[in-house]
Amino acid sequence: MNKIEHIGIAVKSLSASNELFSKLFGEPHYKIEDVESEGVKTSFFKVGENKIELLEATKEDSPIAKFIDKKGEGIHHIAFDVSDIESEIERLKKEGFIVLNEIPKKGADNKLVAFLHPKSTNGVLIELCQEIKE
Ligand code: ZN
Repeated sequence: MNKIEHIGIAVKSLSASNELFSKLFGEPHYKIEDVESEGVKTSFFKVGENKIELLEATKEDSPIAKFIDKKGEGIHHIAFDVSDIESEIERLKKEGFIVLNEIPKKGADNKLVAFLHPKSTNGVLIELCQEIKE
């Protein structure tokens, strides 16, 4: 793994939280993206070299809605940048981690993504992401 790519925070209202985090960082988000397949709307902030992703559910059965129901708003996942997501998935499976989607899917911010089940990572949802090169 190369570095932390971003930290994902589940929020109830993207517009209210965009305002809040803009105040916190002193700068507005640089993009908003609908990831329809995941039932989620995201916004991204840059903080120096780092990124923060806010996630709002757009459907009742979206994983973000379920997360907020169970745990409330807060840190939802940590995403790590990888160079080759497929070989990383293979490596982690061999190490005994539970990969939620073994076939990487298209996530926000022009990335291929895969998630590791928090059961296998001390309760932390881990996202792997690889830049899509075109
Ligand atoms: Zn993410």
